[in-house]
Amino acid sequence: MVKCTVCGRREAVYVRAYSGERLCKKCFVESVENKVRITIARHKMFNVDDKIAVAVSGGKDSLSLLHILAKIEGDFPKTSLCAITVDEGIEGYRDEAVKLATENCDRLGVQLGVVSFKDLYGYTLDEIVEKTKGGKLTPCAYCGVLRRRAINVAAREAGADKVATAHNLDDEAQTFLLNIIHGDPLRTARSGPTLDLAEQGLVQRVKPLSEVLEKEVALYAYLNEISFQDVPCPYAGAALRNDVRSILNRLEEKHPGTKYTVYSSMEKIRQALEETMKTMPLKKCRNCGELTTKTTCKTCQILRKLEGKSEN
Ligand code: SF4
Ligand code: ZN
Repeated sequence: MVKCTVCGRREAVYVRAYSGERLCKKCFVESVENKVRITIARHKMFNVDDKIAVAVSGGKDSLSLLHILAKIEGDFPKTSLCAITVDEGIEGYRDEAVKLATENCDRLGVQLGVVSFKDLYGYTLDEIVEKTKGGKLTPCAYCGVLRRRAINVAAREAGADKVATAHNLDDEAQTFLLNIIHGDPLRTARSGPTLDLAEQGLVQRVKPLSEVLEKEVALYAYLNEISFQDVPCPYAGAALRNDVRSILNRLEEKHPGTKYTVYSSMEKIRQALEETMKTMPLKKCRNCGELTTKTTCKTCQILRKLEGKSEN
């Protein structure tokens, strides 16, 4: 039997290649939870009396985050937790996710609020895809922008002070490289682990899983018997992100720790960028007040497009 290098007693179930640790189930689970605690503290994500809304999609990341925060929140009796789910209206896919979100929330005694694209915008994502067939934008481009606003609406309805999203370390490293590949490195300044959006009238976003590897989130979900949806969204295409993901995975396998190095480089660049950008004036969308480089923000442009109006 290979013993756990932390407790020295129980059988190891996981080798953490980048640190050389071999961990038993209990020590692994605790190490992930501690990592999240440290991330929360380091980035001052929560105040003691915050109401935290977890954005739950039904996948392993968001449901693990919900379970971890429910546990951590027990140490802070004045904070409270709720969950929000966006039903984009994807037939045969989202219904299952909403069901899983409901089951997990019931298990944890957390209240769940669901908002749908149909109610908010008048169209399901399926209808939007149908309406915009042949256009330049992918379903994810519409979905991403509209969901961001939907989460904000749900968080407001729930009276939340913070929205916690389940982006993990892999997501963050991929996004950083994608911004560079797309020639848009300045975006990195606006994607940190804590994003204060009060100026735009949006609820503050935090990413407590941003320093945990995706495969460790998956193992955490498995070891804690968390039921989650593991079929991909039918619209998830062969996007550039998939290529970046597999490059990073290959590098990590050959050179353990690469993802952490990319992440910490991103953090250094982000801090430097934030300083520079403080002096750059940003415009507000004339329609909704969201910060934008144009006169109308992306969400409003998309909504106008769907209504058949011009883009400007
Ligand atoms: Fe939306 Fe794309 Fe994610 Fe599907 S894969 S839920 S369309 S962003
Ligand atoms: Zn152990």
